[in-house]
Amino acid sequence: MIGRDTEGTYDARDGIIKVYTPANLSDETTKRNFDQQIVHEFVHLIIQRINPDVGHLKWLDEGTAYYATGQLEEEMQSKNRYFDIPTFEQFADPDYFDKAHGAAYFYSGLMVKYITDTFGPDTLNDIIRQPEQEHMEQLLSMPLDQFFTKWHDAMLNK
Ligand SMILES: [Zn+2]
Repeated sequence: MIGRDTEGTYDARDGIIKVYTPANLSDETTKRNFDQQIVHEFVHLIIQRINPDVGHLKWLDEGTAYYATGQLEEEMQSKNRYFDIPTFEQFADPDYFDKAHGAAYFYSGLMVKYITDTFGPDTLNDIIRQPEQEHMEQLLSMPLDQFFTKWHDAMLNK
């Protein structure tokens, strides 16, 4: 699912986490990625238990998993400029993850981090519990496209 040696899935239908186990876990980076992947899938499990509707909002689902696991933090440290920040149309496209691959995880994670940094973790919690657009706009105090522009500008100035 992301550009690493480890891969995993959480399937809400059978409630089972599957993580590909690399043949050799003696390499420190491989081991850390593997551990993060397990936690990443576990975050999906928790989100699904709280509200299965989040599964329809891939940026929120994947962004929260990527952010909460520390995968985002690690990727942020390896980049000093962001070249491929999506437009609102790209980000809102249901196929964004298929089209952008790893970048989709990165920018979704940055969006979740931005919401958390700006409004606090309780607001992220509220969004996950009730992710309907109207409720989200109420929590963010503005229409989603306007909020996206604010985030986009903040990312450009990184
Ligand atoms: Zn995921």
